[in-house]
Amino acid sequence: MVSLCISHMASGSSSALNSNSKVAEGIWKAAASLRCRKLLWRACREGLPVRSLLLQKGIIKDDDTCPCCGTCKETTTHALLLCEGVKPFWLGSPLGLRVDSWHNVANITMLQWVDQCVDVLDKRGMGMLCAMVWGLWNKRNAWVLKKKKLDFAQVMAKALSVFVTDEWVPPLDSKIKANFAASVIEDVGTGLGVVFRNSKGEPMASGTYFMADECYDSEIADTLCYKWAIEKAEELWFPEVIFETDCQQLYTQWNILTQGNNNTSDYTSYLNEILDECINMMQGTESSLTLVVHNANKVAQCLAAVAYDYGERIWVEDVPNEASECLQSDAAEIANVSSNQ
Ligand SMILES: [Zn+2]
Repeated sequence: MVSLCISHMASGSSSALNSNSKVAEGIWKAAASLRCRKLLWRACREGLPVRSLLLQKGIIKDDDTCPCCGTCKETTTHALLLCEGVKPFWLGSPLGLRVDSWHNVANITMLQWVDQCVDVLDKRGMGMLCAMVWGLWNKRNAWVLKKKKLDFAQVMAKALSVFVTDEWVPPLDSKIKANFAASVIEDVGTGLGVVFRNSKGEPMASGTYFMADECYDSEIADTLCYKWAIEKAEELWFPEVIFETDCQQLYTQWNILTQGNNNTSDYTSYLNEILDECINMMQGTESSLTLVVHNANKVAQCLAAVAYDYGERIWVEDVPNEASECLQSDAAEIANVSSNQ
């Protein structure tokens, strides 16, 4: 977790020109998609249509109050960092930024803030920063344009969809992350694997399951694996789990169903049927589903591959030998990132 001291930041006095090129470089190298890097850059150049800017340009006539909290003037820093409706998201993000403890933050610009962030965050941290700004700007616009309130999970899903990292990222604080994956071998069967890890990357539990002679399309297999992983989380009494998949179709369909704007005619497809059961099982829990790249899901893939040998099995606070190398490689990456900061 990274904590940034904002009082120190506010006193930074690098020239505007230096700051511009340093921030531009920091944003350019960030591990996030191009569109959200561009958005952060636009925010730094005071180019987002916040109400104070619209008033200044004469596009609106009188009121530059923040449409989300209704108490302060809506500047770029207010909309993205300081609004009461935004602070909890920074704290809950993988960056764990506690805006409440900052001093003088009301007086700095987005450019000054990002300038200082570039000093303390590596490219993954900067990627997460871009992604959070992306998610929060979407949240603001969903409210302003559609009167739609996005919750934490929806904003984080939006943010994580543009955050690009090749590595596994541990969960925050008391949360548990569950990576799951399925492996299908034609004419043989389908293997399932799941690993539950804490914020230090230590295994809380792992498991395998094998369905002999049952060979599914890969997205169906991943969705069945998701359901099985939710069941295991329940059995192990893990109430707040961040499930991670590298199956794009599963993740997309999950978002369509959970956000209630399902317009597809094949609502009764097998994949949706399983997902419906998953939604019911997740109700009343604080759990969520996110999408990661293949490499960030490698322990689960390894488990799915060895499910053929192990069948149905659970390892408490451990993984089978075959998966320990992948597990250690994820843990080494965490240590590597921490020491860079
Ligand atoms: Zn506000």
